[in-house]
Amino acid sequence: MEKKEFQAESKRLLGLMINSIYTNKEIFLRELISNASDALDKRHYLSLTDKDHPLNGDELKITIERHPDTRELVIEDSGIGMTQEELENNLGTIARSGSAEFQAQLEKGNDTVDIIGQFGVGFYSAFMVAKTITVETRSIASEESYVWQSNGEEGYTIDKGDKQTYGTRITLLMKDDTEDDKYSEYLEEYHIESLVRKYSDYVRYPIQMEVTKSIPDPTDEEKTIDTQEMKTINSMIPLWKKNKSEISEDDYNEFYKANFNDWENPQKVIHYSVEGNISYTAMLFIPGKTPYNFYYQDFEPGLKLYSKGVFILDKAKDLISDEFRFVQGLIDSDDLSLNISREILQQDRQVRALARNIDKKIKSTLEDMLANDREAYEKLFDNFGLNLKFGLYKDYGMNKDKLQDLVLFRSSKEGKYVTLREYVDRMPEDQKAIYYAVGESIEDIEKLPVLEKVKEKGYEVLYFLDQRDEFVSGMMRDYDGKQFQSVSQSDLDLDTEDEKKAKEEKTEENKGLLEAMKEALGDNVKEVRISSRLKDDPVCVVAGEGVSLEMEKYMANDPMNKNGMVKAVKILEINPNHPVFATLQQIQQTNPEKLKDYTEVLYDQALLIQGLTISDPVGYAKKVADLIVNAK
Ligand code: ADP
Repeated sequence: MEKKEFQAESKRLLGLMINSIYTNKEIFLRELISNASDALDKRHYLSLTDKDHPLNGDELKITIERHPDTRELVIEDSGIGMTQEELENNLGTIARSGSAEFQAQLEKGNDTVDIIGQFGVGFYSAFMVAKTITVETRSIASEESYVWQSNGEEGYTIDKGDKQTYGTRITLLMKDDTEDDKYSEYLEEYHIESLVRKYSDYVRYPIQMEVTKSIPDPTDEEKTIDTQEMKTINSMIPLWKKNKSEISEDDYNEFYKANFNDWENPQKVIHYSVEGNISYTAMLFIPGKTPYNFYYQDFEPGLKLYSKGVFILDKAKDLISDEFRFVQGLIDSDDLSLNISREILQQDRQVRALARNIDKKIKSTLEDMLANDREAYEKLFDNFGLNLKFGLYKDYGMNKDKLQDLVLFRSSKEGKYVTLREYVDRMPEDQKAIYYAVGESIEDIEKLPVLEKVKEKGYEVLYFLDQRDEFVSGMMRDYDGKQFQSVSQSDLDLDTEDEKKAKEEKTEENKGLLEAMKEALGDNVKEVRISSRLKDDPVCVVAGEGVSLEMEKYMANDPMNKNGMVKAVKILEINPNHPVFATLQQIQQTNPEKLKDYTEVLYDQALLIQGLTISDPVGYAKKVADLIVNAK
């Protein structure tokens, strides 16, 4: 016998799971049946495509046995089974790919029940009700059978077994009843039957169980006697083959949760059929929340693929475009060959036509949501908007037409979401560009001095809260012929003729001061100039041609840019109407040797306000301290 310990993370997860306050323990049955159904799918597919593995009259089915006297519940399938190695890999580690991330979530203090729900821990949910689980299995690729056993605490054992038939038999030894939890219920005929109907009715293989049936007593016509009879307790009609009118919201929700590794209801269901060059039925789901690993490499996008009701592939990724990779679901087509494999899939003309068709449908569904159910769309965008933005800037903006009307940005109109269409449609006539400001939060952005002038003009400003937003606008270049323009870029060209003239005069009058300040800052800035964009703030820094301030900030965190090679050309602007300006003029007259310190302090402040780093924080602090001392 081989004894193995669970990995540390697995143990921790198990502990959580078993002691979980999760009230919905009954879903363990759905999870085990769903695994069994997958195993049957695989065996079925193999029998159709590989003549070495015929079915030989073996029936594809799931059997449930109840043994109330020994407190055992058995779920058996005649599916593909597991080899010793598969047993080890599949049941030895929980949440295989996600354990590190799981830990991270735990440390963030997220609700444990919530986290458990996000991980593919289907099989282990059985430990919520069972004190010991025994898995006997024989793979159709193996001469031997194996027995895995665990009490869900320290580890598990693997032994050779004597199972003759292919498939997997899972025996749960139920926990003892407690005040709150009556685990015996899961051994009752009626209860199991209703759970199967509730969660697994549409499983395409028969789920059989012995049930009690009353028949007339042959010795006494007046009476009946109870006998046991094997009965298929699910209806076996795949949900997607049913008429839409027969499917309730609950049906969709349960189906989604049972089949797509989510414990939360989907946000949107897209169920439709197409007849034509290529005929198919699709049942697509937009998850109600971002999968924990959505932005990690181990997230596997794709749709389940069926041909004439026969399962072919679990994750056909070529059926779904990258932009919409958050969509889950399945496709069943009568026009695909069974022999289509992962490799052929990509090149297959039919498949590409199918993918285009699906893509259009998803896009039109999103547009429809945006137009008719704004709240739902905004929620969807909170979950998956970043992915749509990725779509916009990858491949050099090739998907601009497809996606530009699906992205949302917060804006200076109460911080609400707007589309680019809405923004452009309500632009005042004299506004030439689409203005944006970058920052980490709405509050941060609203404090930016550079925003003042644009707002004063009555122009709306998009708030770029994600560092990637600027890549998006950069890649798009324009929307509806209107260029994107950062409010912290050098020349906004917003001045009236009078304002321009006044600015020129001020510049001329203060030439000496501006030059002295430029000299004080040396190569740090390209220019020190009079600002026409500031109202309440004394100074701001803006970027000249080329790299923007935001890009500099973004690149500062890039390991490839360790030495800070990517830098914006900076211009210090000074507000001639601010008392600080008058002070500077005075200092230049009376105390010119001090001007350097004051200028440096102001410049550092301007950088800090923009969220940029200053080169010498200690020097800065010292100068400010000196100023305070001298204020006496
Ligand atoms: P998931 O089903 O989300 O992958 P589980 O923890 O439920 O996660 O199962 C882990 C793996 O164990 C499955 O992916 C499958 O490969 C294998 N497995 C579980 N149950 C069975 C079964 N009845 N027959 C064959 N393989 C199974």
